[in-house]
Amino acid sequence: MGTILRLLILAGIVWFIYSFIRRTLAQQQPPQQPPAPLMHQCAECGVHIPQHEAILFEGLYFCGETHKNNYLQRKP
Ligand SMILES: [Zn+2]
Repeated sequence: MGTILRLLILAGIVWFIYSFIRRTLAQQQPPQQPPAPLMHQCAECGVHIPQHEAILFEGLYFCGETHKNNYLQRKP
């Protein structure tokens, strides 16, 4: 068996082990995605707004002060 052929086989084995380890590591560490923000629906216009932007009033969510006021004005 020639030296070059032996080197090629060795390189192939090393590459195989390397790619196998990479694949195993990729499976163990899945890419972490940030959790989707909790959404609320505006009681006035029905648009969906994330929790940190929603205005909570008496258990109802609004997309802005304007819609909160509109809703309260219509309320008997
Ligand atoms: Zn709205």
